[in-house]
Amino acid sequence: MGYIGSHTCVELLDAGHDVIVVDNLSNSLASVASRIEQITRKKLDFINADIRHQTVLQSIFKQHQIEAVMHFAGLKAVGESLEQPLSYYENNVTGSLALFGAMLEAGVKTIVFSSSATVYGEPATVPITEDFPLSATNPYGESKLMIEKILRDLAISDSGWRIALLRYFNPVGAHESGLIGENPLGAPNNLLPLIAQVAEGCRDLLRIYGNDYPTVDGTGVRDYIHVVDLACAHIKALEKLASQQGVVAYNIGTGQGTSVLEILHAFEAACQKPIPYQFVTRRPGDIAQCFADVSLAEHDLAWRAKKGIAEMCVDVWRWQSRGVRS
Ligand code: UDP
Repeated sequence: MGYIGSHTCVELLDAGHDVIVVDNLSNSLASVASRIEQITRKKLDFINADIRHQTVLQSIFKQHQIEAVMHFAGLKAVGESLEQPLSYYENNVTGSLALFGAMLEAGVKTIVFSSSATVYGEPATVPITEDFPLSATNPYGESKLMIEKILRDLAISDSGWRIALLRYFNPVGAHESGLIGENPLGAPNNLLPLIAQVAEGCRDLLRIYGNDYPTVDGTGVRDYIHVVDLACAHIKALEKLASQQGVVAYNIGTGQGTSVLEILHAFEAACQKPIPYQFVTRRPGDIAQCFADVSLAEHDLAWRAKKGIAEMCVDVWRWQSRGVRS
């Protein structure tokens, strides 16, 4: 059970839904299921399976009365996708095809899909609205674009499909219980897990990729969203689909841009320690600024991100410093 899926499970169970999780545990731990049960005091049905195995999915759809699917299963490291493109297309695209095929066969046509702001490629301006041109700069982004396209084609083929494409900006934070959070197996690539590791002492310093961007302080600006706010957006999207057919795409962010240095200082305040850093050259493929226009999601879903940067950092630090990640 991965990072965003696990937090969404908590919100689904809290909202009274029954949840069946399918995960091959390629980048997560089975122990997360019991943590979710501990937080919610509800039962979670966990099946260790790979979505590429369509026959397994078919039998799951036969054995349970499933109303809707939330699809979080995919590889997500940009750099790795450039080194192993086939594995990204195989896991993300082939896996999605198997899932959608099994859904079609079972007559389950409601899905919330984990897309990403990466589908906007290098946006010409910020904030980004959902009607910006779409493009990809790496196989990971390409796989998200392909899956969005496949879902759009499904909706054209059959008006019974109800599809929400949630384009996540930068998910960070952890559950306030400290029991679940981001737990990348191997070296992390994203900013917050790296800062947290420096704070914990397992890394010497943070390398900041570029201080000459045309931004508030020269460092890259992103739209960081608390994972619990993001999880809540899934519940709202599912509710919306009950009254809406076809495909709809929503930006899920806060609408606020934050620089690397701003995050770093917020984290220092959260952990009460200095975080050593060093400026290095820009990371190839990085853009200067990326933040969302979230008015569509706010309007259609009656949803809004509630948690700010300080809370995101406090929650990551609680999760990291409790050391309950195995
Ligand atoms: N970043 C950084 N050092 C790192 C990792 C990330 O300076 O070790 C910067 C990166 O250049 C970007 C921001 O932090 O401006 C967020 O990076 P991340 O990889 O988390 O998200 P993405 O770039 O995919 O939005």
